[in-house]
Amino acid sequence: TVAASPVTLDDWFARDLGGLYRPWQADPAPSPELVELNAGLAAELGLDAEALRSPEGVAILAGAAVPAGATPVAQAYAGHQFGNYSPRLGDGRALLLGELTDPAGHRHDLHLKGSGRTPFARGGDGKAPLGPMLREYVISEAMHALGIPTTRSLAVTTTGEAVVRDGRRQPGAVLARTAASHLRVGTFQYAAATRDADLLRRLTDHAIARHHPDAAHAERPALALLEAVVEAQASLVARWMDVGFVHGVMNTDNTTISGETIDYGPCAFLDAYDPATVYSSIDHGGRYAFGNQPQIVQWNLARLAESLLTLIDDDTDTAIALATDAVSGFGATFLRHRSTGLHAKTGLTDEHGELVEDLLRLLGEQHPDHTRFFRGLSAAARGDVSPVRDLVVDRDAVDAWLDRWRAALEAQDRPVEQSAAAMDRVNPVYIPRNHQVEVALDAAIAGDLAPFERLVDVVTQPYDERPGLDEYAKGDPSATGYVTYCGT
Ligand code: AMP
Ligand code: MG
Ligand code: MG
Repeated sequence: TVAASPVTLDDWFARDLGGLYRPWQADPAPSPELVELNAGLAAELGLDAEALRSPEGVAILAGAAVPAGATPVAQAYAGHQFGNYSPRLGDGRALLLGELTDPAGHRHDLHLKGSGRTPFARGGDGKAPLGPMLREYVISEAMHALGIPTTRSLAVTTTGEAVVRDGRRQPGAVLARTAASHLRVGTFQYAAATRDADLLRRLTDHAIARHHPDAAHAERPALALLEAVVEAQASLVARWMDVGFVHGVMNTDNTTISGETIDYGPCAFLDAYDPATVYSSIDHGGRYAFGNQPQIVQWNLARLAESLLTLIDDDTDTAIALATDAVSGFGATFLRHRSTGLHAKTGLTDEHGELVEDLLRLLGEQHPDHTRFFRGLSAAARGDVSPVRDLVVDRDAVDAWLDRWRAALEAQDRPVEQSAAAMDRVNPVYIPRNHQVEVALDAAIAGDLAPFERLVDVVTQPYDERPGLDEYAKGDPSATGYVTYCGT
């Protein structure tokens, strides 16, 4: 008897979008081994975790075997990297295996990263070291636990090969991730640049059907798609700001059509609040600094708008006017989402725009630990201001703000205790702290997975304070100058 395949996939993208990929195979993995399996995600997807742990399952997760129904492809896309246009990026070291449908009927891409060189590899080796794949695993799962739309991490395997980066030898690894899709702004830039009107239309129809189906019924579906992506990205970036997430490499090929966070390279979370924070070793100009993220995503959406112009209206001036309106709308939409987030974080049900703006100004002057400050507000609401006060230098300034805020909380219909409890449901105790991530990855590379697994456990239950985890709730006071790397 033939055992059922641990995974059965569809090939909707490959069927629909010829011209936007090259069929491709992963490199053979000499001795695939499972490092980490996300059993919870497997269950959500309707996959059998035990089957994924079997040799057949591990072979699929490492790219050494093709699942039933799959047509693995390397996807083509263009993109602006740090503002500079590259007409041909594409999956240089990744493959889309296909799509799976979960028990609720939702589709997910199953995608491998680190599976070998593709026709889009340019100078790269097509490989991925274990450290960065585990980094994506823990940070994307933390983001999901924080309620932020994101690609998910299903598994990390090692291939049995070594990968060398900066003179350091690491196990070669493959990340198996899922996503609502891997369609990006850069996918539209690529399709538009081919001047193949049919290809651009097929891509647009596919994206609408998959992510923003209401747009199909609009008078101008391509414009409605653009508006839907503006909305989704405005909401996404506001959620990033809520938790102090710095993406770090917001190139147009890393901005999704679905509104999910994608591409965990040089990302990191703020310790001290400072809008100018940059972690990426290659972001010299601070283009992707924490506080720039909204305007950068709007810039990326303008590139999406340009790509869609010919589908928005036959008359170029009309198309430009409509597209410009849609992209301009990002500003107000983002501020609405940001304000909603800050009201929730401060427990305010009534509208208090000035109060939350003043708080951001205060944080920008005082640079307290971002996560601890917001978490401390529930204690302050309950009468203990020390967790918040102890984080700032100018206590008078924070006291003045706290007084106004407490008065606002007390004037609300909702009892203060309920507001405090609501704040504790949106302000995490635990985020992936940069020093904890480094400790966990160093140990994992050296063969000890225990710190990594503990970190995953901590950051995937971010809201409830648990005993013995104090170290995970603190920033590293010596962490000025923390640097992250991409292209790893
Ligand atoms: P990223 O900065 O991760 O968005 O990657 C930008 C581009 O570089 C994409 O086209 C990637 O597929 C490609 N790339 C990154 N690392 C490698 C590598 N080691 N080998 C081949 N291509 C790579
Ligand atoms: Mg990328
Ligand atoms: Mg990357």
